[in-house]
Amino acid sequence: MKIRFASILFFACVPLLAAADLTVYAIDVEGGKSTLFVSPSGESMLVDTGYDGFKNRDADRILAAAKAAGVKQIDYLVITHYHQDHVGGVPQLAAKIPIRNFVDHGQNFEQVKDNGAVYDAYVAVRDKGNHLVVKAGDRIPIRGIQVDVVTASGKGIAKPLPGAGQPNPACATYQPLAVDTGENAHSIGMVVTYGSFRLVDLGDLYWNQEYDLACPNNKLGVVDVYLTTHHAKKTSGSPQMVWALHPKVAIMNNGPTTGGAVQAWQTIHDSPGLLDIWQLHFATANGPDHNSPEALIANRAPESDNCWGNWIQLTARKDGSFTVENSRTRFSKDYR
Ligand SMILES: [Zn+2]
Ligand SMILES: [Zn+2]
Repeated sequence: MKIRFASILFFACVPLLAAADLTVYAIDVEGGKSTLFVSPSGESMLVDTGYDGFKNRDADRILAAAKAAGVKQIDYLVITHYHQDHVGGVPQLAAKIPIRNFVDHGQNFEQVKDNGAVYDAYVAVRDKGNHLVVKAGDRIPIRGIQVDVVTASGKGIAKPLPGAGQPNPACATYQPLAVDTGENAHSIGMVVTYGSFRLVDLGDLYWNQEYDLACPNNKLGVVDVYLTTHHAKKTSGSPQMVWALHPKVAIMNNGPTTGGAVQAWQTIHDSPGLLDIWQLHFATANGPDHNSPEALIANRAPESDNCWGNWIQLTARKDGSFTVENSRTRFSKDYR
């Protein structure tokens, strides 16, 4: 009888399991990219791994975020494309944490010098795990959130996502750029959905491939959060794509001197309905007019005591509300 009472008391005192939120860490890999998603199911998805070299800098920063999130393995590692700032860190990371599934677009479209070497190093690691090749229209089978692949290997989804497909008035003024035959144009892009919350991550997708998703009809629909494409360099992030996405918040994966181009920053800033741009770094070339207020910047200067690889953390709830936090200052803001 005593034991029974004790056990009832025990269960009554156990708090409900941790709130079922989606947590996202935009990790500072100095102008490369690495984003950790932790599903309410507990499964993890890491999108890109930053650079190789730098004494394990990027792998260590990813590991710190994983530790903060209580993640002990990467269930899905998505490599958007085979550039060094996205795939370079894989061997160093794999030495520190188990990786179950390697997800990529298959063929390497850019066999030039350094790119060939980082790709070969990646394949050697990938060969030891499970390999999934995805194309537009596929889903990445992480439990608890929906991850729709909307572009891969240069081909976007043929039909709009459910609820999307509205005509896009910005298409009338579209101007293509010179064709890109390399890996950026072949990036994996995805829309992550959790209840009413939607986030888009298009890797380093090139301007002309954005057009295929955004024009003449917006195939992706609107999102709450836009993880900036190609570090907000000027050959991605067209107004046709960004304004159609109608994000409330952008998280910019720029380095001090990489990405965060004035023109791309301004396009995001001018996006209808945009509330804030959170930045991984102060963009040193831009001046105050093209940087966000300091509270929204995770790392203020390169190679200084202000740059310790602070991340930007996003917590998204099923009702579509979300919170963004700067790990440098612990400043956070709620969006409803
Ligand atoms: Zn990149
Ligand atoms: Zn790239």
